[in-house]
Amino acid sequence: MCTHHDDPYKQYQAELIEAGLLIPSGVRGVYGRSGTFENIIDQFEGLVTREGAFQNAEVMRFPPIFPRAHYARIDHINNFPDLMGSVHSFLGGEKEHQAMLGKFEAKQDWTTELSPAEVMLVPAACYPLYPTATGTLGAQGRVVDLKTFVFRHEPSDDPARMQIFRQREFVRLGTPEQALSHRNDWLKRGQAILESVGLPVKKVLADDPFFGRGARMMKATQREQDLKYELVVPICKEDKPTAITSCNYHLDHFGISFDILQADGTPAHTACIGFGLERIALALLKTHGFDPARWPHEVRQRLAMA
Ligand code: ZN
Repeated sequence: MCTHHDDPYKQYQAELIEAGLLIPSGVRGVYGRSGTFENIIDQFEGLVTREGAFQNAEVMRFPPIFPRAHYARIDHINNFPDLMGSVHSFLGGEKEHQAMLGKFEAKQDWTTELSPAEVMLVPAACYPLYPTATGTLGAQGRVVDLKTFVFRHEPSDDPARMQIFRQREFVRLGTPEQALSHRNDWLKRGQAILESVGLPVKKVLADDPFFGRGARMMKATQREQDLKYELVVPICKEDKPTAITSCNYHLDHFGISFDILQADGTPAHTACIGFGLERIALALLKTHGFDPARWPHEVRQRLAMA
């Protein structure tokens, strides 16, 4: 090991970079991934796909950007303004281009010449789904299988706190009972899946990192309503476990925002489980070592690596 840090986050980050598993970009929390790292994610996803096959979920893949108009219909800007990612581009003409180039060459702030594009970066894998689900659901509701990169602007040296990472989700849209049992069943099933690959996860009641003055109230309400659970496991620090999966019940929040209705005409309830794929890979590497060929046989079998 060529580096030593007192900070356990920087220590694990340095080890991952040294081993070539993560490729640093120069911006905190933004990395390339090695083939070994990607293969761990692929094999874990294969396991999730097999365990979720009974649902006959509709598979959908959305890009990591979604319409600004849809962003405007959720309350992300109220609750998480510090995490958002907005896409801007240059919409000017020749004259404005010259002005921007002047600033660029003078090493001034040229981004003041940019204008918002029609899209925002996706903050959670299930957000792009809801605007497409407007309408009335059948009695069975829907189960949707999603995966995309999500963006959160929180630069960090904790390798498990990336600015852009992938979530694999199963989302339920339907009645309150359908949504809640999806959340609760997947909480158990998710825990069993993670334990089966040797990760000693614990289930904890959780809250989201709400912003500003209302944060304490929002967190308390979320906890009182029993809406969010996380499956946590130590990655960098034994006494500060990291959430690698979350199970959320949104009540009729998205049903109201996007006019998604139950068969009886009332707003649909939704719930999701989201596997944090990079964090799961990091937890597996921490727990079993950096060479998947030498991981325990049962784990390799579960992941169809052996
Ligand atoms: Zn979700």
